[in-house]
Parts: sequence; structure tokens; C-alpha cells
Amino acid sequence: MSGSALFDTYARAPLTFDRGEGSWLVSDSGERYLDFGAGIAVNSLGYTHPHLGAALIEQAGKLWHLSNLYQIPGQARLAERLVAATFADKVFFTNSGAEAIEGSIKTARRYHYANGQPERFRTITFEGAFHGRTLATIAAGGQAKYLEGFGPKADGFDQVPFDDIDAVEKMIGPQTAAIMLEPVQGEGGIRPFPAQSLRRLRELCDKHGLLLIFDEIQCGVGRTGKFFAHEWAGVTPDIMAVAKGIGGGFPMAAVLATENAASGMVPGIHGTTFGGSPLAMAVGNAVLDVILADDFLDEVSRKALLLKQGLAGIADEFPDVIEEIRGTGLMLGVKCKVPNATFNAALREQKLLAVPAGDNVVRLIPALNITDEDIREGLERIRAGARAVSSPVSA
Ligand SMILES: *Cc1c(COP(=O)(O)O)cnc(C)c1O
Repeated sequence: MSGSALFDTYARAPLTFDRGEGSWLVSDSGERYLDFGAGIAVNSLGYTHPHLGAALIEQAGKLWHLSNLYQIPGQARLAERLVAATFADKVFFTNSGAEAIEGSIKTARRYHYANGQPERFRTITFEGAFHGRTLATIAAGGQAKYLEGFGPKADGFDQVPFDDIDAVEKMIGPQTAAIMLEPVQGEGGIRPFPAQSLRRLRELCDKHGLLLIFDEIQCGVGRTGKFFAHEWAGVTPDIMAVAKGIGGGFPMAAVLATENAASGMVPGIHGTTFGGSPLAMAVGNAVLDVILADDFLDEVSRKALLLKQGLAGIADEFPDVIEEIRGTGLMLGVKCKVPNATFNAALREQKLLAVPAGDNVVRLIPALNITDEDIREGLERIRAGARAVSSPVSA
């Protein structure tokens, strides 16, 4: 037996955190780390945000969980607010991103079933995608390292190379139900789809009667400086999965859909025990109070520019370490020339926490309300981390 009673599924860093404040985590030995990972884009408003804490505590004194057999006013309110702020007409609450993706896929399949085309159940996805770790979502993501050893891959997913819209067009067949993508791939290495590609995918879906599903679990809820990333392209999906930042650290997620796309989801056809609990809804509503307030998203964009410009300077200074800076808003990727794990470890040495991703990228996804001061401090630490792994050839 290995040293711990836990499953050995995570290669954990030898760090134990005791508490957090804003964009900072404090270890059990009192060391302060500047957190540019934010629980992988989950702690969207940092640690111990007073408005979120107050909402949680108030609801905790009333009611935590209630079965979906009853009315849950917090769900209705949060759904109405999401509908008012997006393309969607209908919302289904879940607990995790993977469940929101499963719900999205099921919604798309049921749409075609209800329209007399039950043979349409396949979803086209893109290489580099990450949609979760359930059996269906690993099949959707299509990554060999996540599929290995888990039996036959769930049927119903066809994959094309990243941003290859011609390949999508060729892949569409009589069984195709939907096209699913992250407008900005997260785990795949902060890879945004060009606006033009999103527009072409919308056109293809309209032409072939397919549903467009956006996985905005990582890039949504203000992360790119718009409420949802697809707004930059002026393209709307039929179905969207939302999670991570929507709960500000409380586990919750949602499937959003147009009325038409959700038309197959009739009573009894789908459900969840924990999804949409009063406690989750109280926190979700509190997160929206902050993120949808005037100027908040403009501030995200302003801060993002400060961070991105600083990073561009560091990339110029250390071209042997950094190949490019990519991404939008506070969803930035440092494409490394050194192994990304090496750079990430160097950042950790500087007590700055980031998150490795695919394509040799280190993700910088801090809290959306990070202060300018913390951004400047972060840039200093990132510069120091780059210097530590830089080995310029002497002239
Ligand atoms: C994190 C993530 C998921 C999976 O969410 P879980 O809550 O871990 O199930 C799915 N898609 C994207 C884009 C993600 O970033």
C-alpha cells in the first residue's frame, strides 16, 4: 500500500493550505502563496469574499438541501437571471461540469428523438478538448490518456482536429446530432477558436439541423471579460454547459438551452439528487450579484490587459523560456519553450501558483476580482520564475 488512504489518482504538490484571503492562500506553516490558479478557475471571486460568505451563512441557517420534488425559489431566481443575461430560455442545475456536459449531450439527443429522428445521437468534438471524467465525457474529450483501461469508449462521439471546420463538415452524417466545443479550450492549452470558426460552426448547425453545444465550464462566467466567451464572436449556441466559476468555490453547474433545444427534456426524463440545492443557489445568486454588477466585466478586461502586457514584456525578456502568451481576459496561457512542468515548478518556488495545461502551456487563471497590486506582484514573481529557468547562450 502507498502512504495514503486516498486513491492515488492525483500527483499532489507537497503543500497544505489552511486558509485564503482574496487572491492569496496561506499554508499551514504560514507561508503566503499568490494564487493564479484559483482552484482551476473555480474561485472566481477569490477566497473569503464577504458577499458570498454572507449568502452561504444566511442560507445555511435556513435550508441546505431540498429534493427537486419541491419548488426551490433560489433555482427559479438564478435560472431567470441566467436566461435574462444569455441566449438561453431554460436552465437545468447540476453539481459538476461533467454532469452539465452529460446533461447537454442528453438534451441534444432527446431533441432529435422528440423530433422523430432518434438515429441522430452522435456529437462531433475537437482534438484537445476536455469535457470531464465520466464515461461519456472522456469519450467526448477523446484523449487517449483519459480513456485507457476503462473499457470500450462510449459510442456516439466523432472527433476532428482542432479548429478544422472543413473536417467537421465532412464528418457530419445522418446520425449527427450536435457539435460540441469549448470556445476557448482550457485543459487543451488556452486555445481560443477564432470568431470566424464559431460563426461557420453556427452556419453548419443551422444548415444541417444540428445543435451547437458550447462547453463554457472554464471560459465562462466572466473569465474572458464577457459573461460568456462566445459573446466575443457574436455567435450563440443552442445548449451550453456552465460550471467552475458560477459557484465561486461552491460545487454547482448548469445546462442552459434555448426552449427549442430543451423541448425533448420532458418530466421524468432526467434528474439529479443534489443539483440546484438551496445552498448552491444562494451562493450562485451571490456570485451573479458581483459578476453582473456594472463595470465588473470591464474591470476584468482592464486587469487582463495589465496582466497580458506585463507577460508580453517577460516573454520578450526570456525568449528561451516563453514562446508566446495567448488567451483572452483572465484566461491566459504561457506557451513554454522549457517543459511547462519545469516553469510551473519555478513559479511555485516564487510562491506563485499556476496550472499546467496541454500543448506545453502554463495557465494563468486568477480570481476575476484580483487587485492591480496583486497582478503587479504576480508579474514580478513570474519574471523571477522565468529568470530562474532561463539559460541564455552567452555571446
Ligand atoms: C473542468 C472542466 C470540465 C469538467 O468539470 P468537472 O466539474 O470536473 O466535472 C468540463 N469541461 C471543461 C472545459 C472544464 O474545464
